[in-house]
Amino acid sequence: MTNKRGFTTRSLHTKYPKPDVHGALHMPVYDGVAYEFDSAEDMEDVFTGKVKSHIYSRTSNPTVEFFEQKIISITGGAAAIAVSSGMAAISNAILAVVMKGENILASNHLFGHTYAFFKFTLPSWGIDVKWVDINSTKAIIEAIDSKTRVIFFETITNPQLEIPDISSITAIASKHNLITVADTTLTPPYVFNSREHNIDIDVTSATKFISGGAAAFGGVIIDNGKHWQSIPALSRFKIFEERSLVAKIRKEIFRHLGGSMTAQTAHYMNLGVDTLALRVDRSVENSFSVASFLENHPAVQKVTYPGMKAHPQNSLAREMFNNKPGSILTFELKMDSCFKFMNSLKMIRRATNLNDNKTLIIHPYSTIYSEFTEKEKGEMQIRDTMMRLSVGIEDADDISDDINQALKNI
Ligand SMILES: *Cc1c(COP(=O)(O)O)cnc(C)c1O
Repeated sequence: MTNKRGFTTRSLHTKYPKPDVHGALHMPVYDGVAYEFDSAEDMEDVFTGKVKSHIYSRTSNPTVEFFEQKIISITGGAAAIAVSSGMAAISNAILAVVMKGENILASNHLFGHTYAFFKFTLPSWGIDVKWVDINSTKAIIEAIDSKTRVIFFETITNPQLEIPDISSITAIASKHNLITVADTTLTPPYVFNSREHNIDIDVTSATKFISGGAAAFGGVIIDNGKHWQSIPALSRFKIFEERSLVAKIRKEIFRHLGGSMTAQTAHYMNLGVDTLALRVDRSVENSFSVASFLENHPAVQKVTYPGMKAHPQNSLAREMFNNKPGSILTFELKMDSCFKFMNSLKMIRRATNLNDNKTLIIHPYSTIYSEFTEKEKGEMQIRDTMMRLSVGIEDADDISDDINQALKNI
């Protein structure tokens, strides 16, 4: 019965792990650090895992636990763990399933910090990354060896806005006993359910759509519970069965590296999830409208939005994301016009975040990717003519009007 209810209903009516003593209708913010016990015996039972209860907020906290429960109730995942940022979600998940001497496969079309984590940090810890064209089945299969554990991809790459063929990737992964880890940040659970698409581990930056307007930093790891038997790195945690990944992260990786989410952050996230579907619908609707405005403007050289018919993977976008392929688009102007255009905007903000309630713009070439070489930027298709727009929930005409007046100044 509960499972048949809609996405927003399930979020709003997620049960508290324990009834609130005052009957508070909104989950309180448990800002405290430690939890006390009636007796030394009770304490022993909790520390030895016989009884489940909070001990210390770095490992678990009631407000954060409620956020994790909400994520499970909207996604149907086997287990979820909230962390301090999207990068903490990616790094904790990879460190939990890959060991020194093993390797992962990934495309180089990735969020910039994920790319740098894979290129510089993982190899220095003895974990190799093999770069493959994620859309070439042949390239993926050729790169797999006996030490390959993970295929990592983004559901929509940022900022290239390409969509990988997820069903062929998951088919290869299951045939070769590999784990798929997908960064679903651009397509939150309301438009894309990773479990239904056979993805093993879903990592997401809650800072973006989920936080409800860039109010707080956070990340979530959702384990769809499909791989625990075959992963050497999880062997110590197999008693937790389909929850073994989250058990390892909570009891080892995350406890030792300390990337927990705070209760105050979980409070923002709990509010954000409740209105996620409304905000996604509005910003996707705005994205369609802004994309078609840009497509018809003579000064604009190229527009990329997976929702547009002209996008090479438009049919995949419809199929995978119910034709709600996020609210990030890119567009290109003639050389040297980008800065002039950005400086002429009156409402749209120059900032690096995504999926804020406000519309944001950035010139990736001179900012996020400025530390990379020309060759690397070329390989990642970061052109100096391109700007990335994160379309917010303003009234649609106001976004296009601002773009229109700024285009007159270039
Ligand atoms: C922002 C982002 C991240 C990192 O998230 P933080 O919360 O900033 O650490 C990872 N992946 C993608 C696709 C992102 O957009």
